[in-house]
Amino acid sequence: MTTKTQAETLSFQAEVKQLLNIVVHSLYSNKEIFLRELVSNASDAADKLRFEGLSDGALYESDPDLKIKVSFDDKARTITISDNGIGMSREEVIENLGTIAKSGTREFLARLSGDQKKDAHLIGQFGVGFYSAFVIADKVTVITRRAGLTPEHGVKWESDGEGAYTIENVDKATRGTEIILHVKEGEDEFLNDWRLRSIIKKYSDHVSLPIMMHKLPDPDTKPEDTKETEWEAVNEATALWTLPKSKITDEQYKELYKHIAHDFEDPLVWSHNQVEGGSLDYISLLYIPARAPFDLWNRERQQGLKLYVQRVFIMDQVEHFMPNYLRFVRGIVDTNALPLNISREILQDNPTMTKLRAALVKRVLDMLEKLAKDTPEKYAEFWEQFGNVVKEGPAEDFANRAKVAKLLRFSSTHTDSAVQNISLDDYISRMKPEQKKIYYVTAETFAAAKASPHLEIFRKNKIEVLLLSDRIDEWLVNHLSEYEGKTLQSVAKGDLNLDEITSEDPAEKEQHKQAEEKAKQDFDSVIKQVKTVLGDSVKDVRLSHRLTDSPACLVSDDNDMGLQLQRLLKASGQEVAEIKPIFELNPENPLVLKLKDQTDDERFKELTHILFDQAVLTEGGQLKDPATFVQRINKLLLTL
Ligand code: ADP
Repeated sequence: MTTKTQAETLSFQAEVKQLLNIVVHSLYSNKEIFLRELVSNASDAADKLRFEGLSDGALYESDPDLKIKVSFDDKARTITISDNGIGMSREEVIENLGTIAKSGTREFLARLSGDQKKDAHLIGQFGVGFYSAFVIADKVTVITRRAGLTPEHGVKWESDGEGAYTIENVDKATRGTEIILHVKEGEDEFLNDWRLRSIIKKYSDHVSLPIMMHKLPDPDTKPEDTKETEWEAVNEATALWTLPKSKITDEQYKELYKHIAHDFEDPLVWSHNQVEGGSLDYISLLYIPARAPFDLWNRERQQGLKLYVQRVFIMDQVEHFMPNYLRFVRGIVDTNALPLNISREILQDNPTMTKLRAALVKRVLDMLEKLAKDTPEKYAEFWEQFGNVVKEGPAEDFANRAKVAKLLRFSSTHTDSAVQNISLDDYISRMKPEQKKIYYVTAETFAAAKASPHLEIFRKNKIEVLLLSDRIDEWLVNHLSEYEGKTLQSVAKGDLNLDEITSEDPAEKEQHKQAEEKAKQDFDSVIKQVKTVLGDSVKDVRLSHRLTDSPACLVSDDNDMGLQLQRLLKASGQEVAEIKPIFELNPENPLVLKLKDQTDDERFKELTHILFDQAVLTEGGQLKDPATFVQRINKLLLTL
């Protein structure tokens, strides 16, 4: 098949059209970043060539000096950015420039509000890359050829960014990509040597490959003497992370972050470490973004760090460096401890890699601990964005369980606020002298957790309880059974036995005990009757020591799975053997007293069912037979 004549006009995928429109409108106040984005893409293309070139040297086509060239023509009103990186084949051009392959794009677009300021933030998280060209150009031409293909496999792509593009095959002698921006009327400021140089300096100084522009004419030479072809590097082109920390400004750290993370916003914090000598020689520059990316919860999301070996870029998105619960960390690892020809497969079970990973994880955890200590307000921002990811930590990273646990933040009855800002250390510092456990309640929502009847006895005795209502929390407490020698205990499980920590004096305690004994005798037959009525629906029925106001509640046995976890597992489609709850009645509650005095068997039954169903509802559970529940309540209402 000859590809030569194949010229076609194709339409953009619907999402691209939508995105283009939003990009152009939301970036109008920050137009100059188009150059950063295109330079970043060119530098990524060079990285890709380096990577593929490791196994196939022929891809260099005897042109080993990777670089980016930026030029402009004020008469033709064009700016051209060209690279000799990997280039694209025809299929790749269609795939990369005509569609958005990122999963979750549709959901992302649906979140945009039409408010340009807010959308600009979101767009920044999404990363607009190539499409930012249309912010200053009314037509963009891309001429590209993939490294290793013959010259006639060049491709020309052109679009006005309105909805369609044309694509045709052209000859291209050199590999790589040339992007020609046809500058819009009114954007003439960019057709200026000084302006372009200063944008490159500002955003791309640290890009480790030279960005060349035409040499400025010497004022002493006559115009006809200047040679068009003289180029000079505009950027420093040093690998920033290899410089001594004292030589690097905050601005430079931030710009490097934006370049590697394709983020528009400054990072929240970073940690730069140079470990030389010893068996594990490495430099790491690790960043925590200020904002969670739009696809943080997408399992297929690309993540990971950039790997350099002996200053040479090896590969991108190396996910083996970070466990899943730290998947938001971005940055660079440069090491002398791995061979240059390392492949992704080898990385997986390379012993050096394992050591590096352990060291890097520790760096991140230390950085977060320091952030929490030094700037709690910044840590609060971090927690809001990434807290739910970090909560996966104790289950995933056994070795660092205690360190991760220290970073966790919760809501608790201490403030009753939905803001999660209480650490386990805070909790421990407020524990009663005799208290040995860290208490928590889990529920479907924060409101349900806060109002849980299980808290009554704790509130009365001023014992703090953590209020857990994020989906991940059940999973978390299942894997974090203790912290600093204190067991984590659900208030809805087992026989609480709070006697030791309640504030009663011995005389009161004795009185209390006698009252309990008496209640036990008084209610003996009621409990038996309730058991008969509820039959198979419960594991046991007993009097409660945790309720002060509510009539009844459900609890589970110490070793049984909590009710909330059962519900979550069922919701996720898993088979869960049904674990029956224990039904507890509050002997001081008027309704329960009424039950005790009930002589009519039928009404006893009705009331028992209602109390049981109510207990299921307050747990956030679902009734097996809601209609009958409503009928029973209505019947009762009629007797008012
Ligand atoms: P992103 O860079 O976030 O993936 P872009 O829209 O900027 O998104 O680019 C889309 C894709 O087009 C890139 O992932 C890359 O595969 C390809 N691409 C863009 N610019 C170049 C270039 N200069 N050389 C080779 N491929 C490129």
